[in-house]
Amino acid sequence: MSTSSALLPPSRKPPLTFRRLLVAYVLIALVPYVWSTTQQLEVRGVYQSILTALNISMLAALLAQYPLSGRINAVTRYTGVDNGMLLHRKAGEIIALFFLLHPFLIIIPRFFIAPQHALGDIWSSLTTGESSTGVFAWVIMIVWVLMSMYRDKLRISYESWRISHGIGLVAVAILGTHHAISVGRHGRYEPWFDVMWIVLCSIAVGIVAYTYFIRPIQQKKQPFKVVEVEKAGSNDWALTIEKDGDFPFHFDAGQFLWINTSGNPYNRVEHPFSIASSPSSLPRVSFIIRELGDYTSNLEALKPGQRVFVDGPHGVFTLNGRSSSGIALIAGGAGIGPILGILRQLRDLGETKPIRLIYGNRQFDQMVFQEEIHSIEKALSDFDQTLVLEQPEDGVDAQAGFISQNLLEGAFSTDQKESWVFYVCGPPVMVEAVSDHLRTIGVPEKQILFEQLAFA
Ligand SMILES: Cc1cc2nc3c(=O)[nH]c(=O)nc-3n(C[C@H](O)[C@H](O)[C@H](O)COP(=O)(O)OP(=O)(O)OC[C@H]3O[C@@H](n4cnc5c(N)ncnc54)[C@H](O)[C@@H]3O)c2cc1C
Repeated sequence: MSTSSALLPPSRKPPLTFRRLLVAYVLIALVPYVWSTTQQLEVRGVYQSILTALNISMLAALLAQYPLSGRINAVTRYTGVDNGMLLHRKAGEIIALFFLLHPFLIIIPRFFIAPQHALGDIWSSLTTGESSTGVFAWVIMIVWVLMSMYRDKLRISYESWRISHGIGLVAVAILGTHHAISVGRHGRYEPWFDVMWIVLCSIAVGIVAYTYFIRPIQQKKQPFKVVEVEKAGSNDWALTIEKDGDFPFHFDAGQFLWINTSGNPYNRVEHPFSIASSPSSLPRVSFIIRELGDYTSNLEALKPGQRVFVDGPHGVFTLNGRSSSGIALIAGGAGIGPILGILRQLRDLGETKPIRLIYGNRQFDQMVFQEEIHSIEKALSDFDQTLVLEQPEDGVDAQAGFISQNLLEGAFSTDQKESWVFYVCGPPVMVEAVSDHLRTIGVPEKQILFEQLAFA
């Protein structure tokens, strides 16, 4: 880091890359199975052994989903919020598919061993009281998967979906665990195995309970209030809130908060927004918010003094712990929020490294805080902004089109591609495309940091 790095908060390690996170997740999910193999368990045949290994590992993977998606800083510090949510979704799809197939995988061999009794055996095993929790978990899983797949078509609001997702997760964890320890092979033989599932299930349910009941108590003790909501661009708002009390609150530029403006900390209608201010702005915190749907199109209704509850700060899209010879900031649309926060912090620090901002939007009137960005250009020794417009306008100094591979190729020298750190923020499609372009032009994976303005 440059001379100014001493002013940065104590450095933390960047989170795991998606690949490493995936490997860690798979290894964690395998632990119960590996443990089970050290016991004297009766499992007959190759098919049964594979199925047993899969059943145990998939249940462990299901229970590991809770810390992965539970917004716990001690976890997200290592996983990164984007990668954690991406893994949560991808692994969730595989786990759901496996558990949907689970009864069929158990049933199929019976048709080979004793076809004449197979249907009767299946019916009696499904209708015994012992299996009922498994059957309930299975049905809930189907409803839950269908709801996730067809949320938009069914016109289920994001909030209703999130609440039902939370309730579904708790139900599936409890019922699935009960099923595993009542009819699951291993539970019958080794009591310790039951205890392990109960502990893992309790942690999972505890995380959900913490999110819904305990965190709101903390939020209530640390309220914020609205300071102002101003138009920042043709469809963007600048919202500023302020700590309403004397309590410790710190953040790193680039992090985000979930904000709840309902007035009730237990209300689960909360939205994530990246902080657009630098830590020096505390006790005030500001955001740049693009009008997109019900909530973001009604920000004008927020009144100064109105109570705001926040959850966070979250995220690792920060300057912390990263050393590089230069900084590239690439923003699409509302992605300028955390990028501006980082830029403001670099200005406050008097950063001397080269900094380049590439900022894309459809039209020029969507570009926010241009005056301030120009003043930062003057304040910093080596900072330069490139605007990119889908719809170029006469008299506006901007590149036409998207933040394309060609544009990025031309903007950075080979040396810069290899030694700079690249921060990318915007809607998922833009972040995915730009990250791909950066990899293609030779930027090492570990030097690309991204924040998507939606969970994958
Ligand atoms: C980490 C992160 C940081 C973000 N930072 C910013 C920012 O600085 N500025 C900005 O303009 N936008 C930001 N967003 C996006 C912003 O949260 C959504 O645009 C907003 O919540 C949409 O709410 P709505 O009711 O207006 O729109 P809706 O039409 O209800 O939702 C549009 C889409 O936004 C997402 N969404 C809606 N509600 C939520 C919610 N409660 N939690 C998570 N996602 C939701 C869903 O994918 C939904 O399909 C960020 C998102 C994330 C995940």
